[in-house]
Amino acid sequence: NQRFVLASRPDGMPTRDNFELKTEEVGTPKEGEVLIETLYLSVDPYMRGRMNDSKSYAKPYEIGGTFGGGAVGRVTESRHASYKEGDTVQGGWGWQTHPVVNGDQVVKVDPDLAPIQTSIGVLGMPGLTAYFGLLDIGQPKEGETVVVSGAGGAVGMVVGQIAKIKGARVIGISGSEEKNRYLSEELGFDAVINYKTDSLPEALEKACPDGVDVYFDNVGGEISDAVFQLLNSNARVPICGQISQYNVKNPEPGPRFLPLLLTRTALVKGFLVNQYQDRYSEAIPEMAGWLKDGKLKYKENVIEGFDKAPEAFFGLFSGENLGKQLVKV
Ligand code: NDP
Repeated sequence: NQRFVLASRPDGMPTRDNFELKTEEVGTPKEGEVLIETLYLSVDPYMRGRMNDSKSYAKPYEIGGTFGGGAVGRVTESRHASYKEGDTVQGGWGWQTHPVVNGDQVVKVDPDLAPIQTSIGVLGMPGLTAYFGLLDIGQPKEGETVVVSGAGGAVGMVVGQIAKIKGARVIGISGSEEKNRYLSEELGFDAVINYKTDSLPEALEKACPDGVDVYFDNVGGEISDAVFQLLNSNARVPICGQISQYNVKNPEPGPRFLPLLLTRTALVKGFLVNQYQDRYSEAIPEMAGWLKDGKLKYKENVIEGFDKAPEAFFGLFSGENLGKQLVKV
């Protein structure tokens, strides 16, 4: 079994030195356990937070501990009544190639529903984040304007498409022309903004002549400062992520837009996808239906090779990924 462990905690941007690759003998499952061959690893921004030794919603990784996270694999040996050899499963065993896992902590993946890696993408954690954050908090109505930041990524791309399904006008903000071209040409976004090359306040005003009713925030920082200026009365702002701040050593004080929220009676609400765990079973079939009907498309950025997982992770902070970042083991 090969596994990545946390070797040290990063100071700012993480580097390869923060990771150590260990090779050890493959274990034998005991009663209730399964041996898994990992096929895909999920690479996610929240992992950056877990590398810090600070109190947050997810427990910090321990130094020397396996780098945790979502993965998909095939059962190669089972001593759990619910699984047999050959079953596809998904779970949180992290960055390791042949783990022995408690069978109660994995879930079966139906390979006939969609390609198996979508269980950690559009039909998994990121897709569910988009679904619940947008529909439960954002509540877009027909004809309203929805702005999504981080629009070219795993969550943002799904947010924009669901908002389109609900009849909203959708504006995506990303940091690359390639991403923006995909969003407008393939996914039908109504307008796109490149925060690296466009002047934000002007581009936003031009793209949102009727103001902003829903702002789905994946990034925070200056991008969000600019969008907040355009919020309409009774706007809704699901705070999903703040990736622009994850590697900042000395965060600036803020936000300073609270008076705006008051006068525009806007709702700003942070959320975590696991809050909605008991409703996943209602969301997944609905999204799978949209996939089947071609109303929802997905894109994956797949890096091949287990040993490349740290580099795939670093790429999230420089915007290398169009769509969900995966590692094919
Ligand atoms: P993405 O697939 O969107 O990948 C991250 C993207 O963020 C990059 O491709 C990059 O795109 C953009 N980015 C990186 N640095 C910056 C920056 N400084 N300013 C602006 N954009 C930046 O990741 P996910 O879709 O998985 O996650 C999106 C957000 O949602 C993250 O903030 C994440 O933490 C959060 N999240 C929250 C969950 C919850 O339960 N609340 C669950 C899952 C995710 P670009 O080219 O545009 O710069």
